[in-house]
Amino acid sequence: MGKLDGKVALITGGSRGMGAAHARLMASEGAKVVITDVLDDEGHALADEIGGTYHHLDVTDENAWASVVADVHANVGPIGVLINNAGIVGFSPIATASTDEWNRVIGINLTGTFFGMRAVVESMTSAGGGVIINISSTAGLQGYSNLSAYVASKWGVRGLTKSAALDLGQHGIRVVSIHPGPIKTPMTDGFGDEMTAQQAIPRFGLPEEVAAMALFIAADATYTTGTEFVIDGGATVGAALQPPQ
Ligand code: NDP
Repeated sequence: MGKLDGKVALITGGSRGMGAAHARLMASEGAKVVITDVLDDEGHALADEIGGTYHHLDVTDENAWASVVADVHANVGPIGVLINNAGIVGFSPIATASTDEWNRVIGINLTGTFFGMRAVVESMTSAGGGVIINISSTAGLQGYSNLSAYVASKWGVRGLTKSAALDLGQHGIRVVSIHPGPIKTPMTDGFGDEMTAQQAIPRFGLPEEVAAMALFIAADATYTTGTEFVIDGGATVGAALQPPQ
């Protein structure tokens, strides 16, 4: 018996990276996985691999949210798990960051998460409740240079999670945020080992490690809502320095 037998799990940005790991693990635990993304070929291929379904969904499109959720509710079942995972990063110092980049990062990472939560409430409520997992970041716990829009979006996701948890608890819906540190995905291609050198666990995390946390939240963390789950190899604990030579 799987931990999510029969539950419908919708994952945004699910075609690759961490989203694909969530999709694989939840499918292996019996969930009916609905992958959504803007990367259609990869999404269809993954849906075929795990026996799920794929929908094109740009998370910034609120009308698309309404139609995908209506389609899934009618044809797969009420949504039991939503992972708001789609996200992008953009690097610019604040003095020269463009308005377009600011709007794009906030639009996908923060407004997309709001649209997703709002869109699934009725479907989740109809089945007696569910779980919403919002993927924030260690950038939702502290600042990083050259990442002002990203940091603002991820702090926003963290705050939005708390308000949504208070709004939705009465409907049996739990809402939490996950805060990954550096994880090996296409998003971190190009970053070397120096990025993790001062962590207590000096390596990149794996998407599968984050997926294991999401499964725990969805299946087992039944008295938990509105809070942060940090998975960062100790990145936010402090710096593991070597003594001077
Ligand atoms: P990836 O870039 O590997 O995957 C993100 C997926 O989201 C891609 O398929 C991407 O497509 C898709 N996407 C982008 N824009 C949209 C959109 N508007 N609508 C729907 N899907 C979209 O990233 P990760 O797996 O690394 O990241 C997943 C989440 O984890 C993100 O929210 C990220 O911010 C967060 N995170 C990542 C960390 C890391 O170290 N990797 C650390 C902390 C948090 P496309 O390629 O077209 O952009």
